[in-house]
Amino acid sequence: MSIGTQIEILKNELPSTVKLVAVSKFNPVEAIQQAYEAGQRIFGESRPQELQQKVALLPDDIKWHFIGHLQTNKLKMVLPYVELVHSVDSERLLMEIDKFAVKNGLKVRCLLELFVAQEESKQGFSEEELMALLDSLQQNPLQGVEICGLMGMASFVEDENQIRGEFQTLKRVYDKVREKYISTLPQFNELSMGMSGDYRIAIECGSTMVRIGTTIFGARNYSK
Ligand SMILES: *Cc1c(COP(=O)(O)O)cnc(C)c1O
Repeated sequence: MSIGTQIEILKNELPSTVKLVAVSKFNPVEAIQQAYEAGQRIFGESRPQELQQKVALLPDDIKWHFIGHLQTNKLKMVLPYVELVHSVDSERLLMEIDKFAVKNGLKVRCLLELFVAQEESKQGFSEEELMALLDSLQQNPLQGVEICGLMGMASFVEDENQIRGEFQTLKRVYDKVREKYISTLPQFNELSMGMSGDYRIAIECGSTMVRIGTTIFGARNYSK
């Protein structure tokens, strides 16, 4: 099926409360152009250099989201160009983003990545670390960052009950943060969860933003 058709199908399927991030990493500019022509405007990238190349070649009204692990020495390649960073996975990175934003007169919108999967390889904060961080930010608010919500990934498993349990954990922590910190985090209203294999479960569990690559663009070619 064509990229444009997949975009249409997803747009019809997703509730109006759920934003679609088309994850275009490893896919060529022509593929993004096709999705753009079908009306898609939010695209997710995970590598700074690839993001920069694509920003230069594609229309200005695209909203780029950064979804990959971000190294502190790559901030200048990413932060000026993106509407949202989904993948802030450490306090150190958050503080470096804030410093960069203040220095460059930016407001950077970020999601904090919560670790909920069983897998060793996944990054992010534990619930305890997240709550401790948000407590400390109440005393010392960030100047250049707006914390806009949480992002998370479920384990890469077949067991739907496990996936659902992990998304429910994300939603529970998201609700808890909103309840506890809404006065200091007025922008905290996005819960980014759900990928090609599990977005329907994520939406059932309260996702506001799904990050979908393979379903739109087909299998990625990592050799490029
Ligand atoms: C690659 C990636 C996606 C998209 O995954 P698909 O299974 O292709 O939909 C979503 N989120 C993150 C963080 C990713 O790195």
